Amino acid sequence: MNKNTSIESSALQKRLRRAVGDAAFFDRKNRFEASYDGSKLSFLPDAVVRPRCEADIRRMLLLANRTRTPVTVRGGGSSLTGSASPLKGGWVLDLSGWTAIDLDAEQGLVDVQPGARIADIQSSVESGGWFYPPDPSSKAYSTIGGNIACNAGGMRGAKYGVTRDFVLALRGFLPTGDYVEWGGHYRKFACGYNIRDLWIGSEGTLGVVTGAVLKLLPKPESRWTLLSVFTDERAALMGVRSLLATRVFPSIVEFLDHRSVHCAERATDSVFFEHQAGRPVLLVEIDGSAEDLIERRKVVRKWARQYALATREAKTDSASERLWQVRRKCSGAMFELGNTKLNEDVVVPLARQVEFYEFLEELQRDSGLSAPTFGHAADGNFHVNIMYDREDREQSRQARNAVQRLMEKVVALGGTITGEHGIGLAKTPFLPIARNRAEIAAMRGIKKALDPNGILNPGKIFDRFQIWNHRPIEVRLPWDHR
Ligand SMILES: Cc1cc2nc3c(=O)[nH]c(=O)nc-3n(C[C@H](O)[C@H](O)[C@H](O)COP(=O)(O)OP(=O)(O)OC[C@H]3O[C@@H](n4cnc5c(N)ncnc54)[C@H](O)[C@@H]3O)c2cc1C
Repeated sequence: MNKNTSIESSALQKRLRRAVGDAAFFDRKNRFEASYDGSKLSFLPDAVVRPRCEADIRRMLLLANRTRTPVTVRGGGSSLTGSASPLKGGWVLDLSGWTAIDLDAEQGLVDVQPGARIADIQSSVESGGWFYPPDPSSKAYSTIGGNIACNAGGMRGAKYGVTRDFVLALRGFLPTGDYVEWGGHYRKFACGYNIRDLWIGSEGTLGVVTGAVLKLLPKPESRWTLLSVFTDERAALMGVRSLLATRVFPSIVEFLDHRSVHCAERATDSVFFEHQAGRPVLLVEIDGSAEDLIERRKVVRKWARQYALATREAKTDSASERLWQVRRKCSGAMFELGNTKLNEDVVVPLARQVEFYEFLEELQRDSGLSAPTFGHAADGNFHVNIMYDREDREQSRQARNAVQRLMEKVVALGGTITGEHGIGLAKTPFLPIARNRAEIAAMRGIKKALDPNGILNPGKIFDRFQIWNHRPIEVRLPWDHR
């Protein structure tokens, strides 16, 4: 697209400067920092815009349409798929500074700007007795704009659902620069197409979110966390099924296979169970009123006696939080097994999970690579981390085959290729495995209708991108634990 010569580029820069004034940054440091996300795939933009007001965004988008300049919106930059990396250069619209959080305690709603971090939204509303359940492990870094654009999930999906289930309204800009509002401070609407829901999960390709109204729940009075260890992965995954069959309705059921346990323990210098090294665990949490938890705790303890080898209960909120901290560090902890990670977040129906894990063992035997796997077992969303050394040609070849086999397998099992990270760049080669031609054509049609000049986050979702041809950059991100 925009292959500027230095003269054209500086002419364009002047026009951008006239449009948004001091909100535009052209220096190398700012451009480099906006060039990559959690995938570490880096493409240098020509400018970064940190808008001071909505008029800046509108003027920037109008100019981008006139000059066919790509625009990539950026929140916390924690995407793991390259969705926030500005593949085609152009301008990065950085909304991470728009952080206002305005609680409507009477209605149980919160009005947020797109750069508000999830952890900050949670703590603000909790101080008013309310609860925002979506809980991605990246909550300290990721923003609500990014969570909406990726329809982020997290650990509490089993009981509460994902970001989409809490978005009442969105406001912002169409790619063309027109201001729109989808919904408001009310709980339902039926006036025309629901484009709010199209924006959710569109990975910044259909609109720029500048504000959102989120629905809240009353904060659960109590929670109770149980860590349990199992003979092997089959027993742990069968345990998930039997736990769900009790209808105890856990808020979280996290599975860590024995390789993930090993990495998480080493990264945090802790041991889950003294005499049960090399075994998988389940982290289970239930929440509700104190009275309600008495009965439900009994059900879970009975289940654990039947299926688990040993258990540990978190007796206080801080003990519980310590267990979750270990779980949140899983993602970065894998790097001791290889310098490169293919981080997949596949989804498998409950009834096929044991078969899926058997396949993973076979995949690791065949490829000679480690693929520690952990994730949200109650909603079948597993993070499979294929670890390899990118300097080693044979390992790279094996990793490439392994990911292809993985994607084909999950779809064959009735699942899908991504549950929460989205397609971005990294998953584009696999979209045709999960979606048929008509489905992809319908999605492309929507993109064309809303973004006729193709300026917003071009190259994402649909265009085949080969990560093998792009060396990730060497940067240390806040969530890397090496
Ligand atoms: C350690 C770690 C743990 C993670 N755990 C989870 C997890 O448990 N669950 C989960 O779902 N994800 C997880 N992720 C992935 C990531 O945090 C999510 O995808 C998150 O939603 C990205 O938010 P962000 O603010 O960082 O967005 P960015 O990375 O900045 O952007 C992501 C996408 O959103 C678009 N976007 C951002 N802001 C806007 C806006 N205002 N308007 C329109 N589009 C916008 C961007 O263009 C891009 O396409 C994890 C990542 C890391 C590094």
